[in-house]
Amino acid sequence: MTDPTLLDADDPLARHRDLFVGAETPLVYFDGNSLGRPLRRTGPALAAFVEEHWGGRLIRGWDEGWFDLPLTLGDRIGRVVLGAGAGQVAVGDSTTVLLYKLVRAAVAARPGRREIVIDRDSFPTDRYVVQGVAAECGLDVRWIEVDTAAGVTAGQVRGAVGEQTAAVVLSHVAYRSAWIADAAAITAIAHDAGALVVWDLSHSAGSVPVRLDDWGADLAVGCTYKYLNGGPGAPAFAYVAERHLDTVAQPIQGWMGHADPFLMGPDWTPAPGVRRILSGTPPVVGMLPLTLMLDLVEEVGIEAVRAKSQRLTAYAAEVAAELLEPLGVVNGSPRDPDRLGGHVTLLHPRMREVTAALWQRDVIPDYRDPGGLRVGLSPLSTSFTEVRRGLEATREVLVVLR
Ligand SMILES: *Cc1c(COP(=O)(O)O)cnc(C)c1O
Repeated sequence: MTDPTLLDADDPLARHRDLFVGAETPLVYFDGNSLGRPLRRTGPALAAFVEEHWGGRLIRGWDEGWFDLPLTLGDRIGRVVLGAGAGQVAVGDSTTVLLYKLVRAAVAARPGRREIVIDRDSFPTDRYVVQGVAAECGLDVRWIEVDTAAGVTAGQVRGAVGEQTAAVVLSHVAYRSAWIADAAAITAIAHDAGALVVWDLSHSAGSVPVRLDDWGADLAVGCTYKYLNGGPGAPAFAYVAERHLDTVAQPIQGWMGHADPFLMGPDWTPAPGVRRILSGTPPVVGMLPLTLMLDLVEEVGIEAVRAKSQRLTAYAAEVAAELLEPLGVVNGSPRDPDRLGGHVTLLHPRMREVTAALWQRDVIPDYRDPGGLRVGLSPLSTSFTEVRRGLEATREVLVVLR
């Protein structure tokens, strides 16, 4: 088994770990894929925002950048992590709410079609939103059954779409297994059937390079508090491909998506461009931590982040094979590095208890039923030594439980 201190010494991104709060403690954090650690700069930046911008500029702040922040920040997210040209990304709301808006928009763009396609192992909120939109619009949900240790394939999508498909809603990286879907191929297959695709990028953004424009994507949403370290409840992002911007119709028509919000006019006229996806006043304070993480990802480059992510997941799989598989643990994630995102799921019938015992020892993975312990490896804030220590602790807990 490789010595983790050698891997850390060899890691060109190792020095960035100290930029995060908590890096100095012995705690092992395996849940950066659920809530990324804050950067140390975040606290002082928030304090300065309160004093100088909020407290100092007051309402003038709206004219001095806040009003356009959902779009200027959207452009940065698009450029740094989404492979999206300017003018197609907006920040606001939660992922769930943006997903609702965009699934409704996709369905509205394909009138007369009766089905929404989604896979059975999609993240719960995605399934619930799709069920809700289907009920609201009188449509049917067409479920794709997937291997939960892998994820949706292009062949499965080809078998599910047809002339009744209005929209296909899928995750680029599966939340359970970290399977990476072949987004370009799946998008092309959906388009051949005349449908639109809504990609959920929550587990990709900031970890796995995304190429929305190259994929020919239509619509996408994603989280900013996972690999983009935006903080609990940080606002989400939505992407609308340029070719859909003039026609996209979303259901929460608010004044901030209006062509002229301060006209206070009698009727809703959608703003030109991606601003029309916005509804109400943007969560300016909540966007601040995210901008700091984008600075870091931009400096390092998303390809370098991905390269470290692949080394971390490969090491976790290697250590798990050696220390945990003899105890009956099964790797529930793809083995092909090109199909694996930023985490590894380890399966064992007693992982719920294992996770609880690990938390007592300051080793923090998360648990996903049935029997899945997720080892989330946020590339810029996780070391190889941390991986080794966390999996050694997992072995000790399993040995005692047996
Ligand atoms: C984390 C996650 C979400 C979260 O949605 P919220 O509205 O922020 O709670 C949605 N979809 C996927 C695939 C996720 O992984």
